[in-house]
This record gives sequence, C-alpha cells and structure tokens, in this order.
Amino acid sequence: MFDNLSDKLDKAFHILKGHGKITEINVAETLKEVRRALLDADVNFKIAKDFTTKVKEKALGQDVLTTLQPGQLLVKLVKDELTELMGGDVAGINLSGNPTVILMAGLQGSGKTTFSGKLANYLLTKKNKKPLLVACDIYRPAAIQQLYVVGDSIGVEVYSEPENKNPVEIAQNAIKHAKANGFNVVIVDTAGRLAVDEEMMNEIERVHKAIEPQETLFVVDAMTGQDAVNTAKTFNERLNFDGVILTKLDGDTRGGAAISIKSVVNKPIKFVGTGEKMDAIDVFYPIRMAERILG
Ligand code: GDP
Repeated sequence: MFDNLSDKLDKAFHILKGHGKITEINVAETLKEVRRALLDADVNFKIAKDFTTKVKEKALGQDVLTTLQPGQLLVKLVKDELTELMGGDVAGINLSGNPTVILMAGLQGSGKTTFSGKLANYLLTKKNKKPLLVACDIYRPAAIQQLYVVGDSIGVEVYSEPENKNPVEIAQNAIKHAKANGFNVVIVDTAGRLAVDEEMMNEIERVHKAIEPQETLFVVDAMTGQDAVNTAKTFNERLNFDGVILTKLDGDTRGGAAISIKSVVNKPIKFVGTGEKMDAIDVFYPIRMAERILG
C-alpha cells in the first residue's frame, strides 16, 4: 500500500544490491511500485505514467545504478519530482486590494462556507486583517444561516440581503459596505450546485466579472478523486481561477487529487482544509504533501 512506499523502495534496492548488479529493469520495476501507489491515491493514469517515465529518465541520467545507496537516491528523486509536480514552492495569497476581494467557487458540499469562515479566521488572527463575510447564495436560506453561524463563532461580521435575488448586486453592495466600514478583506461565498450546470456557471461568471476579485479560489473536496479534476477543469475554463483549496484532507484520502488537479489546470493549491473546526486550515506545502504521499 501507500504508507511505506519509501521503505519499500529502499528495501527493494537493498535486496537487489546484495544479489549483484542493479539493472535498468530493476529500476523500472521499482518505479512500477510508485506508479501503483499513485494510482491507489487516485491519480489519473496518464499523469502517473508520465511521472514515472520522467523519474526513470532522471534516475538513469544520474547514474542511480552505480551509487552506493540507489534506493535512497531514487526515493529522493521521486519526492523531489512529486513536490515539483504539486507546484514546488508555497503559493501565497494576494492581499493587495483595498479592500481585497476573494471569491469562493465550487460545488455544493465542497466546503466553501466552512472554508470561507476558516479563511476569515486565519486572516483575522494570523494576518491582522478585518474581514467581512458575504452570503451570496440566493437559493438556499439555510446557506445564509450557516454563514451567520460560522461568522458568529469567529467574531466576523456577515453581510447578506435575504430579499435580494441578484448575487451580483449583493456582492457589489457588500464591497461598498466594506469600504464604508473599514473592512480590508471581503470574502464572497457563492451558491453551489450538486453538479456543474450552465446556470450556476453563468451566475458565478457574472459575479466574477462584476467584482473583479484579487483572488478567485476554487474549493474542492479531496475525497472526490477523479471527479475533482473534471470539476476543476470546468471552473477554470469559466473563471480562470487563481488557486485551489483542497478540503477534507483529514478524511481517508491519499491526496492524489492534489497531483491531478495541479497537473491538469496548472493552478497552485493554496490552502488545505483538515477538519470541520474553524482552525482546521493549513497553507499548502507541496513538500509536505509529497512526504505524506510517500509515507
Ligand atoms: P458548501 O456547500 O460548499 O458551502 O460546503 P460546507 O462548507 O457546508 O461543507 C459541507 C460539509 O463538509 C459540512 O458538513 C462541513 O462541516 C464539512 N467540511 C468542510 N470542510 C471540511 C474539512 O476540511 N474536513 C472535514 N472533515 N469536513 C469538512
């Protein structure tokens, strides 16, 4: 399985070393383990295949066969490449606006409202900001209520217009309200559907155009595997978003979505959600994720 891939690779090479020459075939066989692990983690087949092909080329180019500890070198190569595949460095968040406008997009249930609260709490407590949360879901009164519960729990004001059925107007009015009342970050939580539909995409596209956010963040449930990639693709085509938020990483997921999404839409993963509580938010570190994947 996935957890001890490092150990496995190490052992595989160790055994081989004791019994003579390590060959190119041995390297290929070992990298097959890596590929299997990536597939287990729900990484798209082509991405997993391309990845191992690349590592193999690098390994052979670096004379992994003749080094004293080829297993360790291969593990390092795999880890470095995985880190690179997930963006390499930490991607920051652009807070340059006055106020900074952040638009949250994603399917219903992906964790948008929860993450909006977590981000507000993070900016309030860690970045010394004064955030305003905006409820732009005009279809589900319960969603507005949920944002109020979230806002109350972290001491952040929530802006809503329950009678208004125009999310563009609500978002614009919220920004005016923020300017007039000294809020320097506006986090707009939008409506989501259970599946991508044209009406929803048109609506969020209109909101996006009207408020010109500094950050458009696509929220996706890490547990949804391959589906996450397709949803990310659709949202990116319409919104050209700035970053990805991977939620529910505390669940039983290997995190393969992180690799697939980054490979397919080429946008950085900025934060991860690791629980239902307001402090269950982490900046996304590609190297940590690579280590988690390798065990
Ligand atoms: P929305 O419809 O996109 O706004 O999604 P919600 O924020 O309402 O989240 C849907 C469900 O997922 C709720 O029950 C949340 O408590 C839960 N949830 C959100 N983020 C996380 C997370 O990082 N980990 C876990 N375990 N649950 C989460």
